[in-house]
Parts: sequence; C-alpha cells; structure tokens
Amino acid sequence: MSKAKYKKEMKEIRDEIINCKKCPLYKFREENNFYSVIGEGSHWSDIMFIGEAPGLNEAKTGHPFCGASGKILDELLESVSMKREDIYIANILKDRPPENRNPSKEEIKACAPFLKRQIKIIKPKIICTLGNYATAYILENYGLKDEIQGISKIHGKIFKVKTLFGSIKVIPFYHPAVVAYNSNMKGVLEEDFKILEKFKK
Ligand code: URA
Repeated sequence: MSKAKYKKEMKEIRDEIINCKKCPLYKFREENNFYSVIGEGSHWSDIMFIGEAPGLNEAKTGHPFCGASGKILDELLESVSMKREDIYIANILKDRPPENRNPSKEEIKACAPFLKRQIKIIKPKIICTLGNYATAYILENYGLKDEIQGISKIHGKIFKVKTLFGSIKVIPFYHPAVVAYNSNMKGVLEEDFKILEKFKK
C-alpha cells in the first residue's frame, strides 16, 4: 500500500471513531470533554501492541498508554532497547469506560472492527497483547478460541496465526498495570519482553 493510501485510510478510521455512536462510551466522552484514543507509533513497525481501553490520562490527552501503565510499558521496552517509536500501539476500545471498568461485550463488538482495520493496514509480524481482554479478543479473532486461558497461564507463549496478510505471531503479556499492584510482576514482564529481542529490527 502506498504511503498516501495508508494515511488516507488511517484518517478515515480516525474520523469514523470520533463520530461513532454505536455504544454509550461516546456520550461519556462528550460529557467529560475526553478524547478518543486512536493509536500511536510507527506505521511501518513489525510489532503492534494491543491494550484494553484508555484510562483517565489517555482520555484527557488522546494518547495511548501515557499514564502509570504507559510509564511501565516504556521501561519494559527500554529493557529490550526499544522505544515507542519502534512499535505501533492501540487499544481494543477507543474510548474510556467509566471508572476504568472492564470493557463490555457490546463495547468490544462495536469498537473492535476499528482495531481490525488498523491491524490490516499496519500488517504487523508480531502482535503483543497486553492483558486478558486484548489476548482473548485477538486469539478468538484469529481462530484460536480454544487456546484462550487466563493471562497467568499463557503469558510469554508464542501463538502462530494465519492472517490475510500472512503468518504472524501473537504473544500475550500481562498488562503493565499489574506492576502497579504488585511490583514483583515487573520481573515476570521483563522476562517475557526478552522474546522481543529476537524480532526487533
Ligand atoms: N491501559 C490500556 O489498556 N490502554 C491504555 O491506553 C492505557 C491504559
């Protein structure tokens, strides 16, 4: 795909997200003067990270992972000599759920098609899922529903999946937010992130 076409499609996705009224989260965004969080990073990256949904900091700024979880994510990337600019990062939900509650099935159904389109444009070779929701959504989306287990069971595993743009790998990680609750988890995440050393350019 040419750079111009790619940019055009990404802009279309952005505009559709901003105007989407398929679930009540848009109302919550408007009432609070929040932003949708579309996604960010290198459009040419082989590695795409997928989180769950924007938190308060993200909704206030429009940037993914710019709060406490984002700081941990940056440290984890740095531990394998990578930066945000080396990856593309997006969430399943593009708007913040109230009180950071878990995404509902309806919200995922309404919002995930945008993520699917982002993946189709970026064509990553590796998809890193952060936490249970992103992992379950991506595994199911690529026909691996039977492999879905809690993140404590499948973190750091490599799943090979076939997509319309070729074979790719899905690697589930714990969500970086777990480190805020249990600092011992940082070591577990660092160990899992080492897998990425094999794949970075
Ligand atoms: N948690 C997520 O899953 N995504 C963000 O963008 C921020 C926090």
